[in-house]
Amino acid sequence: SHAPAPAPASVPTHCPYCALQCGMNLRRSGQTVEVVDRDDFPVNRGALCGKGRTAPAVLSSRVRLTGPLVRHPATGRLEPAAWEEALRATADGLRRARARHGADAVGVFGGGGLTNEKAYALGKFARVVLGTSQIDYNGRFCMSSAAAAHGRAFGLDRGLPFPLEDVPHTGCVLLVGSNLAETMPPALRYLTELKDNGGTLIVVDPRRTKTAEQADLHLAPRPGTDLALALGLLHLVVAQGRTDEEFIRERTTGWEDARAAAMAHWPELVERITGVGVPQLRAAAAAFCDAPNAMVLTARGPEQQSKGTDTVGAWINLALATGNAGRPLAGYGCLTGQGNGQGGREHGQKADQLPGYRRLDDPLARAHVAGVWGVDPDSLPGPGRSAYELLDALGRDVRALLLMGSNPVVSAPRAGHVEGRLRSLDFLAVADVVLSETAELADVVLPVAQWAEETGTTTNLEGRVLLRRRALAPPPGVRSDLEVLHGLAGLLGYGKGFPTDPEEVFGELRRASSGGPADYAGISYRRLEEEQGVFWPCPEPGRAGQGASGTGGTEGTEETEGASGTGGTGCGEPHPGTPRLFLDRFATPDGRARFVTVVHREAAEPTDAEYPVVLTTGRVVAQYQSGAQTRRVDELNEAAPGPFVQLHPQLAARVGVAEGEAVAVVSRRGRAVAPARVSEAIRPDTVFMPFHWPGAGRANTLTNPALDPTSRMPEFKVCAVRLERPEHR
Ligand code: SF4
Repeated sequence: SHAPAPAPASVPTHCPYCALQCGMNLRRSGQTVEVVDRDDFPVNRGALCGKGRTAPAVLSSRVRLTGPLVRHPATGRLEPAAWEEALRATADGLRRARARHGADAVGVFGGGGLTNEKAYALGKFARVVLGTSQIDYNGRFCMSSAAAAHGRAFGLDRGLPFPLEDVPHTGCVLLVGSNLAETMPPALRYLTELKDNGGTLIVVDPRRTKTAEQADLHLAPRPGTDLALALGLLHLVVAQGRTDEEFIRERTTGWEDARAAAMAHWPELVERITGVGVPQLRAAAAAFCDAPNAMVLTARGPEQQSKGTDTVGAWINLALATGNAGRPLAGYGCLTGQGNGQGGREHGQKADQLPGYRRLDDPLARAHVAGVWGVDPDSLPGPGRSAYELLDALGRDVRALLLMGSNPVVSAPRAGHVEGRLRSLDFLAVADVVLSETAELADVVLPVAQWAEETGTTTNLEGRVLLRRRALAPPPGVRSDLEVLHGLAGLLGYGKGFPTDPEEVFGELRRASSGGPADYAGISYRRLEEEQGVFWPCPEPGRAGQGASGTGGTEGTEETEGASGTGGTGCGEPHPGTPRLFLDRFATPDGRARFVTVVHREAAEPTDAEYPVVLTTGRVVAQYQSGAQTRRVDELNEAAPGPFVQLHPQLAARVGVAEGEAVAVVSRRGRAVAPARVSEAIRPDTVFMPFHWPGAGRANTLTNPALDPTSRMPEFKVCAVRLERPEHR
């Protein structure tokens, strides 16, 4: 008789989608994998949303790409091609644009879902191989306003400067513009535990979302007015004498001007601007101040505005004025969205940055990174255009584009225009796992491996660096993004500098980041195998990191403090990592947090007689971002088959549409048609559309690309529209 077959080993890894980066186990069965519970990872403790549970379906999907495609000059169609031909065509396309129009005529567009290793290699590829300044990525559309505001106030940007495990133990959470019950459902636990512990949850959202339903207090401002809301709350805090004068004096600068700006925003004025009544404002201010500790958490609502940096700054001011920063169980944090939204902005695929979150215009940073790369610092290009500006320049200044891990035809603002710009390129190469709407426009499509088929690191919304492990081999005909960059670099004369082994790339990334704000030098794959992630900054043993202050204490690690406050241990002991930042000093030159003086201003496109309604956009629980992966999963499509327009019954009656009937939403940039979803959970002056779908119901056809002057974030969350019955054309 045969002995029973050994149980297939399961591989501990992380979800490919959002910034929570939930832990999961993958168990091999034949050529596929299935998700099994993994209870040991502290962030999600075994809980997964439907997207994570069904993620393996994309691995075995019939529609995934399993061989390169090259557009045939005669037929104009994408035809199967050998890898050598596809890579040669790509190298030729990039080289030709550069020869004819100069290095900056070649663009590179990355993604917040790429691993740290890929983001790093892509930035290096752009700057060393192509010599172009024209690189940016879709994370610009995700977290750039919070990142800019973080940098301005604290001198350092890490989404959450504390671990999520702290959230249930604060006294009050003020959650602004986040529907985490749908965007990252396992994170809702932290808010329910907060309430179980007697804490208060205040949610700011124009819609009564699933998250807002959990709130003790829900404030529903007009979209685009939450800067005024924050100022109104700060006004009340000052007027009622609830500021923390000692904290302001000892640990901040700039208070007098910020205070004066807030005092000009009377509650009655704020009520007129926001639509939130004075009694509600008073209740929120009191709840926030009554708590011994409080946190302000923001997400895309306040951030995706043409004043996103100032709006986040206003919420940070509220945290600072009440002494709720730089101490345990209190502070401001941003709930980053994309899977590697945090790591994606640290390693050099952003237009203005070098690895280690260094600035591209800093001569010392350039010299350090150029040393690691073995190139002359003067050969590195300067900062380039931001994501929307880069997309807008396609076919004009930028003639050829290499795009990895992004689908701007669906996800970019004013998407019809962006689609036109992509079509006008001399050459477009897209690396993706499926034929996305953007890949359909490409001259060359390069099929790449998926999350479970390759190893790499990501950095979750807490700044916790994680190891995603390979659980099965990619199908034949598919290569990793690192192999694609290696192949292209080789054809362009730089093969040696682009290894294909992720651990080797990570080793180089560690050296490049060493001494920078996001210091990964003390993190190794081995440590990541053994620990539940390591929080950056984590300098190499014996070296204190730059800037941020904190303690290294989390489960099982020692609490340490270095000379500059980052927990340098000396003695060659490994650095424990830094779960909590700013406990002793902020990362500014004088160690103090900076108040920034901000005042209310209107949305870039206010409503008027022609476009009287505000459109705001967002996500639903069963789909992820542009839907390139999740729209290929049957179970998710059944749950969320297409776009819709959420509108209040009063507005529906005015337009003359009933539940389920098609309604056209028209902005100055185009028109989208989708079924009406009539609901009292939204303000009567506002409509909501999820943005996951292409075609007639594409929400981003409508959105406004007005940019924040600092972060260059487009105004996804507010534009002026009118509603029509579709036949009224
Ligand atoms: Fe967790 Fe986000 Fe994946 Fe859902 S999509 S399982 S919340 S990481």
